[in-house]
Parts: sequence; structure tokens; C-alpha cells
Amino acid sequence: MTKVLERKVALVTGGGSGIGEATAKALAAEGAEIALVDMDLEGADRVVSEIINSGGHAKSYKLDVSDDAATDNVILQIEKDFGGLHIAVNNAGIGGVLAPTADQSVSDWKRVISVNLDGVFYSMRHEIPLMKKSGGGSIINMASILGAVGFANSSAYVAAKHGVIGLTQTSAIEYATDGIRVNAVGPGFIKTPLLNALPADALAGIAALHPMNRLGTSEEVAALVLFLASPAASFITGSYYPVDGGYLAR
Ligand code: NAP
Repeated sequence: MTKVLERKVALVTGGGSGIGEATAKALAAEGAEIALVDMDLEGADRVVSEIINSGGHAKSYKLDVSDDAATDNVILQIEKDFGGLHIAVNNAGIGGVLAPTADQSVSDWKRVISVNLDGVFYSMRHEIPLMKKSGGGSIINMASILGAVGFANSSAYVAAKHGVIGLTQTSAIEYATDGIRVNAVGPGFIKTPLLNALPADALAGIAALHPMNRLGTSEEVAALVLFLASPAASFITGSYYPVDGGYLAR
């Protein structure tokens, strides 16, 4: 049976863990060839091996997405290796130190903004020209529920994720007639290593903020990304889609 993403090349940043890993596997299961990018090469190599062992096609690349020149080089290499680009999931992100705004250090603020917002911009500015050459495609930026509302002790993260949604909407308008769709996804709190810093009782309290009274799974986020990447979403661009167990409905 024909798979929905056969002959498509998909780049996933932060693909070596959590939501990026589940997304890369979901895209690969539908036939996409995966360029798996992560700062953690060991994690990326593990996921690539698992995709290949399941019959898929994937290659890993080490990259810190907060480095624009390095991002340019990796995307040039992906063009050489795969010949084009049709799907880009800009997912790499960090949580940052939890502290009220006035107690945030400038260096922590800058690190979170540089990975979670600048990193998405750097990725897009090199992905878009290659996607244009490849005949169009779909970009999915990983925002958060915290791209739509505030959350105490996380000002840099919240500011970056709000920025990702604005960047998504703006570039969707700019590249709609080039056949490039750009959307953002807003996960609620998802069980991944990103939440490891939080104590167990805090996690129970956070689960209760979702009407479903649980954390989400990476696979539940990946299912939405897969839909947005697929031809089924052909008239969808410039939008932000929560996948949050009802968190934003309160
Ligand atoms: P995760 O399990 O920590 O995975 C993130 C991956 O990105 C890790 O492999 C990490 O490598 C890598 N990474 C970190 N900084 C990077 C950089 N500068 N350049 C390249 N790769 C980098 O986190 P996750 O929970 O799957 O999060 C993925 C995305 O979803 C993030 O954008 C996050 O903000 C967003 N999100 C997560 C949740 C949640 O509750 N988990 C909720 C909403 C949105 P290292 O392990 O070496 O750091």
C-alpha cells in the first residue's frame, strides 16, 4: 500500500528525544526519509538506527540550532544527501531555569530565547529556500500551550513560544503562494525528559491543570504533526493547534 509521505524528505530538529523522536518515527512510518538533527548526536544516532531497523530511511546530523552558520551548513549537507526538503519540524527546545521574571539571569533568558525562538528562525531561513527549490512543503514549528498563555517562573520560555506563533503566522502569509504551509503546534505538558527537572508532586499538580487530568504522550503530539505534514492538511496554513488535553479550554 502506498504510504502518504513516500518520496518526501523530512527534517526534524531535536529528533533524538521526546516529541521529536516520536515525530521522526511517525513521519518515517508513513514513508518519509528523515534528516534527524540534534545537539545530542548519541540520541540522534539511536533514533536513526531504530528507524532503519523498522525499514525506514534516516540520517543523523549534530547541530546546535542556536548557531545560524552551523544550521546553514547542516541544511546544505541535507540537500546534498537527500536532494531536497519537503517537511521541516522545528522542534528543538529547552525549558530554562524556573524563576520569577526579576530573578531571571540575563544569560538564562538569552539561552532560552536563542534556542527556542532564534533557533526556529535560523532553521526556517535556511529551510525555506531549499523547500522552494523542492516544489513547496510543510513547516511545523513546535510552540506550546505557553505560546498562548502565561506560566509563572517561565518568562523566557513563554516569550519565546509566543514569538514562535507570531513567526509562524507571518511566514505562512509570506510563502503561501510558494506552496509552503507553515503551522505551529501547542502541546500541553508531555511526558518527556524535558520535564525531568520537575519533582513528582509538581508533575501531579501540572497533570491536574489539564481537564483530562494527565500528561500527554509524545505520540499524541506526533499524530498532529503528521497530519499537518500530510496532503490532508493542504488548505491549512498560518494556524496554531493545541494538543493539550483541554488545558487552554479552561
Ligand atoms: P526533550 O525530550 O528534551 O527533547 C529535546 C531534544 O532537543 C533533545 O534531544 C535535546 O538535546 C535537543 N536540543 C536541545 N537544545 C538543542 C539545540 N540548541 N539544538 C539542537 N537540539 C537541541 O524535549 P521535548 O519535551 O521532546 O521538547 C521538544 C519540543 O517540544 C521543545 O520545543 C519544547 O519546548 C516543546 N514542548 C514540550 C512540552 C513538554 O511538556 N515536554 C510541552 C510543550 C512544548 P539534549 O538532550 O542534549 O538537550
